[in-house]
Amino acid sequence: MSQFDQDEVFSPVDNEPTAQTRLKELKATLPEGVAFHLESVFPKVKGWGWKKAFKTKLQYIKNTQEILQDSLHEGEEVLYISKGTRYSFLEYYFMGIWAMMINHTVFVLTNLRLVMIHSSSKGKPKKTLWMIYYSQIEKFKGSWNGMLNLKLKDGKKLAFSGFPKADRKTMPVIFQEALDRYRESGFDPESSQSLENLCTHCKDKVPKHEHDCDNCGATYWKPSELAWRSFIFPSWGDFLMGHTTIAILEMFGGIMTWTTFVVLLVSGIQNSNPEDIIVAFFVVGIAHGIDAAITAHIAGKGLHPKKGPTPLETESPA
Ligand SMILES: [Zn+2]
Repeated sequence: MSQFDQDEVFSPVDNEPTAQTRLKELKATLPEGVAFHLESVFPKVKGWGWKKAFKTKLQYIKNTQEILQDSLHEGEEVLYISKGTRYSFLEYYFMGIWAMMINHTVFVLTNLRLVMIHSSSKGKPKKTLWMIYYSQIEKFKGSWNGMLNLKLKDGKKLAFSGFPKADRKTMPVIFQEALDRYRESGFDPESSQSLENLCTHCKDKVPKHEHDCDNCGATYWKPSELAWRSFIFPSWGDFLMGHTTIAILEMFGGIMTWTTFVVLLVSGIQNSNPEDIIVAFFVVGIAHGIDAAITAHIAGKGLHPKKGPTPLETESPA
């Protein structure tokens, strides 16, 4: 028996890896000023794929570092972080797989609430943020196929899918534990709606139906403002929301609509057929109307920055 084998055999059992020792091994550092409950943030510390699981989590943490530092309150601790895709039947119906592109969401479970960050497919944060206090969650269900369903106090239903495989089992468990602990505490902070919008800039709550942040003065697009722009020029509203790919697709749709319009109009005039001319306008009206409706729906799901914070009242302290 070689020296190495001897060591293996007689090594004490307390060499079991922990989240802490694994982080050290990977020489990973966590952002300052953010508290993490390591055991639940990194539930997989051994076995096949632990390294990849750690690296994925660390990447999510790194990407959202600034948002976490800005938005978490004192005493708030991150229990879990992952990335999924918000699912809406209506959007899939109208937009097909393209709906996925605008629905990537980073999930941060804390001991206080669920913070959601609109992101790219890689988990890079975009501008829209939400939060849900656990007290606003009436029912929560994680299913075998990785779907996560939430029924909120004000009747809203949310569904998410597309979490990494490793998270499909652990996340519902950690979610349920957080929910149970929270219910026991009876803490029920005030909410203007179950799914609260957070200011992109200062991360403060922006109440239901409001599109200005009282705290920092930033303003947000109203869905109606974006919808009528999309009605005049399909894709305009989506460009303003930063959904560039969707906007470009809509422009292609627009080009098809306008081509149809021109063909019908020309044929109507040439053949002096007023019906073609009526149909031409009808086609444009319907196509632009659908675009406006989709824009309004997407815009209504969260806040989309219009103007940044107003730098007033920042008298520098002497
Ligand atoms: Zn603000």
